Amino acid sequence: MSTIWPTGLHSIGGALVRCHLLVWERSAVLIDTGLCLAPYRLRKLMSRLALKPTALRAILLTHGHLDHTGGLAEIKAWSGAPVFAHPAEQAHIDGTFSYHGAARVGGAIEAMGRTLLGYHPVKIDTPVRDGDELPFWGGLRVVHLPGHTAGHCGFFSARENVLFSGDLFASYAFSAHLSPAIFTSQPALLPASVARVRALNPAGLVPNHYDRPDTALHLRRFDQVTC
Ligand SMILES: [Zn+2]
Ligand SMILES: [Zn+2]
Repeated sequence: MSTIWPTGLHSIGGALVRCHLLVWERSAVLIDTGLCLAPYRLRKLMSRLALKPTALRAILLTHGHLDHTGGLAEIKAWSGAPVFAHPAEQAHIDGTFSYHGAARVGGAIEAMGRTLLGYHPVKIDTPVRDGDELPFWGGLRVVHLPGHTAGHCGFFSARENVLFSGDLFASYAFSAHLSPAIFTSQPALLPASVARVRALNPAGLVPNHYDRPDTALHLRRFDQVTC
């Protein structure tokens, strides 16, 4: 089966997680900011593409977990790009969210990570809500998919018929699975978000935790997972 990956979509690898640079004409938008290596790799990638830091029009966050915001302060300072995210994610970005149940384990891991990384929180400049249409990469629609966190959002490109699905699920050959309990702060909301993606019925998915750049492969794996 052939690999499907949109033109202008660049996957930036790092420790444990990937983030994505979406490039069109002489502009770019970043979805999530990875952990420690992402800012360096972003600068290298944009330099290779002959894009200045100011070409970065926005930083979109699927949610505020540390593995998606670790590079946020550095990338925002470097580019000056505004940060777009659901307002419920500010507490995660700030490291002040109060976790309950199994998710307290994930919260403790994050707290350790913030200390190790010398993490600095950043304010959301532009709060987004479900259904917002963002003028990037031919248009990205905000799809609120709560469960992993309360403000967890995907971004849907109608042009490419692809959904950036954040941490709704992880896609690896050895295991494709929904957000695990220790990283899920609103578990009761997860099944409805899975159903919403199935109803949206995109041609491909781009998660943040995956092995291969192939949107159709990730969709096939997502179709196999159950709540
Ligand atoms: Zn997460
Ligand atoms: Zn993650």
